[in-house]
Amino acid sequence: MSECLFCKIAAGEIPAKIVFEDERVVAFEDIEPQAPVHILIIPRKHIPTVLDLDEEDQELLGYMHLVANHIAGEKSFAENGFRLVTNCKESAGQLVFHLHIHLLAGREFGWPPG
Ligand code: 5GP
Ligand code: ZN
Repeated sequence: MSECLFCKIAAGEIPAKIVFEDERVVAFEDIEPQAPVHILIIPRKHIPTVLDLDEEDQELLGYMHLVANHIAGEKSFAENGFRLVTNCKESAGQLVFHLHIHLLAGREFGWPPG
């Protein structure tokens, strides 16, 4: 069995508030939201970081963005905009080493990010 937290969430072994799932991708609410809307979009495939992506993952990455588009379209925040973030390794603040896109919305976001 995988020891990865997000693999366990994708497998349904650890509960999460799932907002979208299919055979390739799972999206669920962040346990410690940093905005009124904070959703994590993950591939079912275990990929630790952006640095571990292969050529064969190109379509999957594009698809994860389409899922973000789909979720945003279903919710009312799309019109005002939202932010997609992927942290890579420690300096960027990555804590869970299973690739994920943070979808953040529902408030104004500063730039540059902290
Ligand atoms: P990272 O810092 O790796 O970019 O983001 C990891 C995110 O996963 C954090 O925003 C954190 O709040 C979230 N997280 C950590 N553990 C859990 C969990 O058990 N369930 C859920 N839903 N989110 C989690
Ligand atoms: Zn994993």
